[in-house]
Amino acid sequence: PSAMREVFLETPKVFWSDIGGQADIIRRLKEAVEWPLTQKESFERLGIVPPRGVLLYGPPGCSKTLLAKALATETGLNFLAVKGPELFNKFVGESERAVREIFRKARAAAPSIIFFDEIDALTTARGESEAGGDRVLTSLLNEMDGIESLNGVVILAATNRPDVIDSALMRPGRLDRLVYVRPPDRDARRQILLIQFAKMALDDSVNLEELADATEGCSGAEVVSICQEAGILAMNESVDIAAIRRDHFLAALSGLRKNITASMLEYF
Ligand code: ATP
Repeated sequence: PSAMREVFLETPKVFWSDIGGQADIIRRLKEAVEWPLTQKESFERLGIVPPRGVLLYGPPGCSKTLLAKALATETGLNFLAVKGPELFNKFVGESERAVREIFRKARAAAPSIIFFDEIDALTTARGESEAGGDRVLTSLLNEMDGIESLNGVVILAATNRPDVIDSALMRPGRLDRLVYVRPPDRDARRQILLIQFAKMALDDSVNLEELADATEGCSGAEVVSICQEAGILAMNESVDIAAIRRDHFLAALSGLRKNITASMLEYF
């Protein structure tokens, strides 16, 4: 019985319509994943190599994981998700075997997506553990370079520390497409609010446009958590309350300590 039982083939249930904004990113992701599978002739005719993998990078809570899951759901591809740190913790002493096993599973389930979340852990764990990050990185690169055998397997990775990613991972034929997942702009925040509002009982005092403005600088995750918190504040007032009011949202907003700082955005 191997630790790899832990790496499940997931069928996420996240749809493009669950994601506020990000239309341009969604289009590029679709291309990167669908074209190698469906447009083989065009690549051959033009004499270019299909992209192998995509690195999603950007500040925390801004929909990288959500995008990866929606991509799997909407393309109907099988989805294997692995968190970078798990490669060191969960599979102590057998990290390299774990990497091989992930790719074996993905090939068996092709067409499929392997999603490496927090891929920067490969670098930051370097030298720390006996299952050194270097060896795990090397086995990952070896698997990615196995061109024919990787047919039908798309690699997605995500990080909010692109500055520490080993450049070997981003060479052609590896994670050769970089996609910046930016914090939501006003329109995206408005859409995220609308997606939440559709599930919520709201008082007439709640003003969508005002909240779209007031959430400036928030990550998508924070916009969602403001909605949740507003609901909790309403329940604090009375568990029998019928609807969430504007003042609950404003109180939730003023209680929020924003995660994305100006200095953090300098990485990107
Ligand atoms: P991290 O780098 O911290 O892993 P992430 O970029 O992968 O973050 P997600 O896990 O995709 O972020 O987002 C966290 C949560 O925030 C989502 O589950 C969702 O509820 C919400 N969220 C973030 N961005 C959006 C968006 N554009 N539309 C709808 N929900 C969003």
